[in-house]
Amino acid sequence: MSSAILSFDDWYEKSWLAADVAFRKYGWRATFFVAKPQNLYAADWAVLAELQERGHEIGCHGMSHLPVTEIDGYLEKDVLPAKRMLERHGLKISSFAYPHGMRNIQTDRELLNHFKILRGTTDVAPGVISASHIGTLQVNVASVTKALRAGIRSFYAHEIVFDGKRRGRWNPNGDAIEKICKFAAEEREGFALFKEL
Ligand SMILES: [Zn+2]
Repeated sequence: MSSAILSFDDWYEKSWLAADVAFRKYGWRATFFVAKPQNLYAADWAVLAELQERGHEIGCHGMSHLPVTEIDGYLEKDVLPAKRMLERHGLKISSFAYPHGMRNIQTDRELLNHFKILRGTTDVAPGVISASHIGTLQVNVASVTKALRAGIRSFYAHEIVFDGKRRGRWNPNGDAIEKICKFAAEEREGFALFKEL
């Protein structure tokens, strides 16, 4: 399988919806890992429901956004309350992304009792999919194509910036994502959601 796996983290629902408007023409599908759901307003929940309705996946990214490896009792205190809150709003949750990518074998084992699949960052383990950060890769036309040709197919980012001004390396502009979408649509087998892996 050589479909692209795109994920976006944290609390940038509005930018994700704008991205959906921009990239639907490529048939793009992405997984959005929501952190701090306790801070969401009704309008934000409506956006998440709409993204799910449009064929994307919503995943869990914790209540506090702290590394689970630094929280005693993280499962009951931080992860499961976030999962339940998302589910109460009608979202189907089967994937979890590690905040800050911090994980270990023990957390993998415990979390895989509650999620089908986990997302790490650079490291891979059974049940854990790694992802390369689009901003860190300094993504441009050449580097995305190079990465995809080299077999890197899982990318993640946070906010997607459409006003032409990149806000720091963590927030790629829409052009970078568009390049990936175009390549995946034209030269690869489209897109995969985390729950499908
Ligand atoms: Zn995050």
